[in-house]
Amino acid sequence: MAATSHTSIKPRDGVSTLAGRWPLLGQRRALVAYFVGIVTLDLVAIGVFGATADFRWADLLTFTALMACGAVCIEATRRLGMPAGISRDLLSAWWLPVALLLPPVYSLFAPILLQVLLQWRVRATVLYRRVFSSAAIGLAGCTASVVFHVLVPDPTVLSGGRGLPIVYAVGCAALFAVLNTGLIATAAHTADPDTRWREVLWDRESFLLDVVELCLGVVVAIACGLNLALLVLALPPVVLLQRSLLHAQLQAAARTDPKTGLLNAAAWQREADTEIVRARRTGETLALLIVDIDHFKRVNDSHGHLAGDQVLIGVATTLRSQLRDYDVVGRFGGEEFVVLLPRADIVEARRVAERLRRRIGRMAVPADDAMITVTISIGVALMSVHGDDLIELLAAADLALYRAKELGRDRVYIPTAPPTSSDTK
Ligand code: GH3
Ligand code: MG
Ligand code: MG
Repeated sequence: MAATSHTSIKPRDGVSTLAGRWPLLGQRRALVAYFVGIVTLDLVAIGVFGATADFRWADLLTFTALMACGAVCIEATRRLGMPAGISRDLLSAWWLPVALLLPPVYSLFAPILLQVLLQWRVRATVLYRRVFSSAAIGLAGCTASVVFHVLVPDPTVLSGGRGLPIVYAVGCAALFAVLNTGLIATAAHTADPDTRWREVLWDRESFLLDVVELCLGVVVAIACGLNLALLVLALPPVVLLQRSLLHAQLQAAARTDPKTGLLNAAAWQREADTEIVRARRTGETLALLIVDIDHFKRVNDSHGHLAGDQVLIGVATTLRSQLRDYDVVGRFGGEEFVVLLPRADIVEARRVAERLRRRIGRMAVPADDAMITVTISIGVALMSVHGDDLIELLAAADLALYRAKELGRDRVYIPTAPPTSSDTK
């Protein structure tokens, strides 16, 4: 399942010390209200379903076995760590059977137990996020459970092999995924209303993962209904899947600059090197741009580091949105970005660089007291004209950037070859 993840927001005035101890209070008011609402709903559901549930030892045994499998999964992947920010796991393989086979109240407790274990054994994150994740998964599971029990009053028929209960189980598992994603995405969107819904809901990768979780959950539920001991057979493949999923996420996280989401310097250099080798082999043109924000120190000095960070994020987003999918964009460090434009000649490189300069010049980032605008300077180097490998191209683009700054900033500089100055402002 997806875990909550959103950019941390600057604490509101007057609550900074309280917010230090209670980070939730430092969030947007709408987000605090949303969290409190969802957690209250979860507590009400626990009260209502807890009071009306019929207790059976067999249910408790099934619940304990499924939670033990979840705990083994968590322990088996614990040493790999967990990427910060958005992270996915396959724990639905265990709480979907809870929703399908057991009375709804168990679905409300299952995520609480496993989130406590995650917090204690894997990553101690801010507590309110764990509480919210438990409530969101619990409510999604409980709803799916109620619907399934209405459609299939005796869940043991799920393991009887008849088609209709299995179709209903798949439908309820899909309902669970939609509700859970919707609740988490609403939190992410409330935390940062500028993010597009498309970004916080599904992309291809997360949709595929939801489908895998749905299949696993239904298959484990059927096996579990046949014989609880079959969980021993289901556990190893789920653990292996969970490990490879975490591994892939950690690898992706290691390539990314956490602040801007662009490639970090090392990953950018690796990808740029590959493109340069390809361009040399095929004889295609290629351009390298170094982008530097002008007088960025002043932004920090006047508006604070957090506002400075928002400007960095804004510049990164604008760069990404203005470039083609196969252009390689990275954060080189501080307020410097690097862009590799495969197949770009001097005309194209100049056109793209000027467009980036204009777009970023028009960007305005809201701060407490004003709208922040910045300009950028860009140094450009072309393959075969200013260098033949990454080191030479970087050195040439850096020199060009230096000239752009020297000539007054807010401009693109492409050295002519042999080098004489020409500025293109
Ligand atoms: P110039 O036009 O010559 O590039 O001037 P500048 O002020 O942009 O350049 P300088 O190198 O003097 O300052 C860069 C500043 O960028 C200093 C540093 O505090 C700030 N900076 C570097 N990384 C970050 C970051 O991650 N967040 C924030 N907010 N500031 C950063
Ligand atoms: Mg700068
Ligand atoms: Mg700089």
